[in-house]
Amino acid sequence: MPMRPRHKPRRMCVGCRTSDEKRALLRLVRTPDGVVCYDPTGKALGRGAYVCADAACIQTARKKRALARQLSAPVSDAVYDVLLALVNRLPDARESHQTGA
Ligand SMILES: [Zn+2]
Repeated sequence: MPMRPRHKPRRMCVGCRTSDEKRALLRLVRTPDGVVCYDPTGKALGRGAYVCADAACIQTARKKRALARQLSAPVSDAVYDVLLALVNRLPDARESHQTGA
């Protein structure tokens, strides 16, 4: 039977505009105060937006002001810096080879 997914929550990256559940998405939230910040819990109240845990997507979102548009609120550079610092610290498979020792 045909099912039309209407209100299924989609987590689309504001950078590359795709939704891929295999990729980790970071959630941003606009708090009731109108401040946009990173939401590590993914449960904070407020309007949310998502971006891939990928520096390229974060840079794209920054350049296009995609987050600000998505959330209808100004997004400070500090927010992007937090995201970039975060993805740079994420364990990466490419780093799995051991050096030294
Ligand atoms: Zn993306």
